[in-house]
Amino acid sequence: MTVSESSSDVAVEAVTKEHRTVRGLTGLVTQADEREQMTIEEPYTGDPIGAIPLCDAADVDLAVERAREAQQAWAERAPAERAEVLTRFRKLVLDRREKLMDIVQLETGKARRTAFEEIQVVAMTAGYYSHRAEQFLASEKRKGAIPGATETRVHHHPVGVAGLITPWNFPFELALSDALPALLAGNAVVINPAEQTSHVALYGKRLLEEAGLPADLFQVVTGHGPTIGEPLIKAVDYVGFTGSTATGRIVAEQAGKHLKKASLELGGKNPAIVFEDADFDRAIPGLINGAYSNTGQLCISIERIYVHESRYEEFVDRFVAATEDVELGATYDFGPDVGSLVSKEQLEKVVAHVADAKSRGATVHTGGEARPDVGPYFYEPTVLTDVELDMDLCCEETFGPVVAIYPFSDTEEAIAKANDTDYGLNGSVWTEDAEFGREVAQQIRAGTVNVNDAYGPTYASIDAPMGGMKDSGIGRRHGREGILKYTEAQTVAVQKGQGMA
Ligand code: NAD
Repeated sequence: MTVSESSSDVAVEAVTKEHRTVRGLTGLVTQADEREQMTIEEPYTGDPIGAIPLCDAADVDLAVERAREAQQAWAERAPAERAEVLTRFRKLVLDRREKLMDIVQLETGKARRTAFEEIQVVAMTAGYYSHRAEQFLASEKRKGAIPGATETRVHHHPVGVAGLITPWNFPFELALSDALPALLAGNAVVINPAEQTSHVALYGKRLLEEAGLPADLFQVVTGHGPTIGEPLIKAVDYVGFTGSTATGRIVAEQAGKHLKKASLELGGKNPAIVFEDADFDRAIPGLINGAYSNTGQLCISIERIYVHESRYEEFVDRFVAATEDVELGATYDFGPDVGSLVSKEQLEKVVAHVADAKSRGATVHTGGEARPDVGPYFYEPTVLTDVELDMDLCCEETFGPVVAIYPFSDTEEAIAKANDTDYGLNGSVWTEDAEFGREVAQQIRAGTVNVNDAYGPTYASIDAPMGGMKDSGIGRRHGREGILKYTEAQTVAVQKGQGMA
């Protein structure tokens, strides 16, 4: 695949054995040519596919300065006018989906079906907020201090420049779907994407500009988070971080130090509870997807399944059999269910978690091995039982295609076990009694809980808030909450005294 430097269309013909490079996009980074370059590798092979400039603090300042200048005029446009740009962007995303999937796969090694999901979510987010932004951003009348004499309204002003720090696991979706509501609310955006997946964020910039977004309004600053993270946090007005809980703590400290508003979307160790009356024909495919989608590198991945003891053995047998049907593959075609892990580091973490559990007595029912015959960072979908609290696999996020199954005897125990973690991002409940499922869901301390969701773990709805309780984060994305967080609420109270209009 070749991305031509000069072409405004960034022609990506097809991924072939001969053409697996991304070129031409890093010119969109200010002062790119003057900076040291970092080689990016294709996870399927370990071969170089391109390079990104390693920006420094001065680059961050320049990007934020340009974004800030562009923001003034953008904020003066009516929300409906801003929405027109994003509606055009949505169409471009769908039209260029093949190129987008190529770049996402080249950088992440994920299966094409999961790359496609990223395109769907970004298009859906653009459509949703384009339709709803005007309504969400409209000023609201509130009760006045002196009823009848004071008219009190709340106005939603843009914060200014939003700085987004985004991870590699859903690089197009997470860079763009948080940027879109920020832009619609009248802000500029400066993104620092994870190094490995910078090209797809840059391609997003190109599409936004092609859709009519003012050139400087959306900036991408490539490079190492530990180097440019703090300069970015210091320079912007709002920090939106998505990544691990460990890095989230550092970002939160820096946001506190520089007194910046921030939201943190962090990790999870997400549980599923399968009750005695669950329909296994739905639960098993749903949870297979929940555990292995994106090779398990999903913040809302199911890593723990609690099954009622009366059907535990039946569930384990059927889940193991279904796991053995999951197809791995290193291809740029639709087909395989699961692709590569993103990197050597990610593979090493998964190998270490499983080795630690095995050495302390856990049982591996299927999988448990790396698959260098498929690609350097491939790992088999893996099912374990007899996992105990002192094993890393039990309580830390593995972020790989590995799931542990546990028995429980009553509802109270199942809820207590599901909540026995510092994380609180997502959960899944399976029962034929929907009302009982809803009651159980409300007792799980997680930002989103799905009952009988045939897809497995999802964020539920673009119209409903998604985010973490406990160590899984602060703040919410999606819905009204996902756009108003990029605004400052201002209350204006007008008192109409005697003789005043
Ligand atoms: P990470 O924390 O290592 O990195 C995330 C981003 O932070 C990257 O862009 C990285 O460059 C940057 N960064 C690293 N150190 C930094 C620092 N000191 N200051 C500022 N920025 C810094 O996470 P990752 O490995 O890229 O992503 C996987 C993690 O993200 C998992 O824990 C996953 O659960 C989480 N995640 C959460 C959500 C959610 O919505 N809650 C979504 C996707 C991923």
